Amino acid sequence: MRTLIKGGTVVTATDQYKGDVLVEDEKIAVIGTNLDIEADTVIEAAAKYVLPGGIDVHTHLDMPFGGSTSADDFETGTRAAAFGGTTSLVDFAIQYRGQTLHHAWETWMQKAEDKAVIDYGFHMIMTDLNDQTELEMDALVRQGVTSFKLFMAYPGVFMLDDASIFKALLRTANNGGTICMHAENGGVIDVLVQRALAEGKTAPRYHALTRPARAEAEATHRAIALAEIAGVPIYIVHLSAAEALEMVAEARDRGLPAFAETCPQYLFLSYDNYEEPGFDGAKYVMSPPLRAKETQDRLWRGLAFNDLQAISTDHCPFCMKEQKVLGRNDFSRIPNGAPGIETRMSLVYDGGVRAGRISLNRFVELTSTSPARIFGLFPRKGTIAPGSDADIVVFDPNRTITLSAATLHMNVDYNPYEGRQVTGATDTVLSRGRLVIDNGKFVGRPGSGAFLKRASRS
Ligand SMILES: [Zn+2]
Repeated sequence: MRTLIKGGTVVTATDQYKGDVLVEDEKIAVIGTNLDIEADTVIEAAAKYVLPGGIDVHTHLDMPFGGSTSADDFETGTRAAAFGGTTSLVDFAIQYRGQTLHHAWETWMQKAEDKAVIDYGFHMIMTDLNDQTELEMDALVRQGVTSFKLFMAYPGVFMLDDASIFKALLRTANNGGTICMHAENGGVIDVLVQRALAEGKTAPRYHALTRPARAEAEATHRAIALAEIAGVPIYIVHLSAAEALEMVAEARDRGLPAFAETCPQYLFLSYDNYEEPGFDGAKYVMSPPLRAKETQDRLWRGLAFNDLQAISTDHCPFCMKEQKVLGRNDFSRIPNGAPGIETRMSLVYDGGVRAGRISLNRFVELTSTSPARIFGLFPRKGTIAPGSDADIVVFDPNRTITLSAATLHMNVDYNPYEGRQVTGATDTVLSRGRLVIDNGKFVGRPGSGAFLKRASRS
C-alpha cells in the first residue's frame, strides 16, 4: 500500500523544503524531489504544507468529573482531533483511591480500544500512593505508560501531600518515568472558594477570582523545588500565569530540567471572558482559570524562547446544557474544562506563525516534535523522516475558516472561540499511512488507532 504526497512544502522542527513524500504501509519510506514512483493514492499538496501530525499530550476523553462525564468519548474526541490535524494524543487514566494503577490503565484502555481513530497513549493520574503503587509505577513504565500526573489542587479528590509527591518523584529517578504536575495550591484555593460562597459570590467569574495567579506560581515553584531535591526532571501541565512562568524560567536558567506546556485558551482568551453576560462565563470555567489579557504576550514570549516547550489542549468538554448548568447557583459546582482538541493547530498557526510571534518550525516543534521528545514518542512520531510513522498533515496556510460549534466536530454545544476567523487549516490527514481525513471529509475507522507504548527517559 503506497501513498505519494506530491509537490508540497515539507516542514519539520528544523527544515523547510519542497519535496515529495512516499508512504509505504504505515511508514514514511522515501522523501525526494519529483519522485517518479507508482502509488495507490496520490495526494496533490502544491501550495500546502506537509507537516508531522500534531501531538496533543493533554486530553480528557470520557472522563468522570464532579458527577458529570466529559462530553467527547474516544470516538468523537479522536475524530475531532484528526479533523484539526492531530494524529496522536496522550490522555489520562485515573487511579481512584483504593484502586491499583493497573485497574485504572485497563479501564481507560477499554474506553479507547474500539473507538479511537488515531493513536493514543496514557499518563497515569495517581491519587493514592503506597509501597504497592510505587512498585506498579515501575511496571507501568516498562509497559509504555511512562508518565504520571499528580495534583497539588483539588483536596479530598486528587490532591497529594508533599511527602507523597516527593516519593513519586524519587521513584522516577530510578524507573525513568516523568512526573507531570497540576500546580495550584489547592488548600489556599479551597479556603478562598468557601469564603466567596459564604459571602454569596456564586457567579462563574468567582472561579477565577478564587484561584489567584500566585497560587499557581507557589505550587509551580514548590513542584520544581521538590524535583530538584529528588534530582529528576519535572513537567508542569497547563501553565497559565506569568508568575508561574517566571518560576519555570528561573529554574531553567539555573540549568534544571524543568519543562512546561501551555494551552491555546491561555493564549487567546482572558479573564474578560468570565464577565460575559448571564451564565456564559461558565463556558470558560477550567483550572487554572483564564488570566489577565496582558499574560498572553508573556506566554508567547515563553514559547518563542523555549521557557515553554509544548502547546497541548487540556481538552475536557462539558455541555452548557445539563453539565455546566450544574453550577448555575454555585461556581464551584461548574464542571471544570473546555473543548479544544480540534482547534489547536489552526489557532496556533494563525495567532502564532501568521502574527509573527513564532516561526513555522517552532510551530511544528511546539505542537508535535517537542511533546514527542518529552514523552518518549520521538522519532517514531513528531517528524517527517524515512522510518517514522506516516502521521502526516496536509495543511493549507491560506484557507480561512470560522470556528463555530455548528461546524466543528467536538461533541459539545458551544465553542469558546465562536465566530473567530483563523487562517490556516487542515485538509488531509494520514495516521500510520491510512487516510483519516481526505480533503476535509472523515474517512477513518473507529478502532484503527493503536495504543502507544512510550519510551522511558534514557
Ligand atoms: Zn487536564
